[in-house]
Amino acid sequence: MATKFEEAINRNLKNIYVCRSCKSKIRAPSLKVSQGKIKCRNCSSAKLRPKRKK
Ligand SMILES: [Zn+2]
Repeated sequence: MATKFEEAINRNLKNIYVCRSCKSKIRAPSLKVSQGKIKCRNCSSAKLRPKRKK
């Protein structure tokens, strides 16, 4: 019964990335991030990591 809830959390975390240099959060599709098309709004760095990893 908890599958829907877990799915929602999964989806939320999947699309959130954290800038490695200024640590601001960016929401973007993982496909674009892996292609290097997403840049940080603050420092325009392309070095992002998924928010899930701590
Ligand atoms: Zn940044």
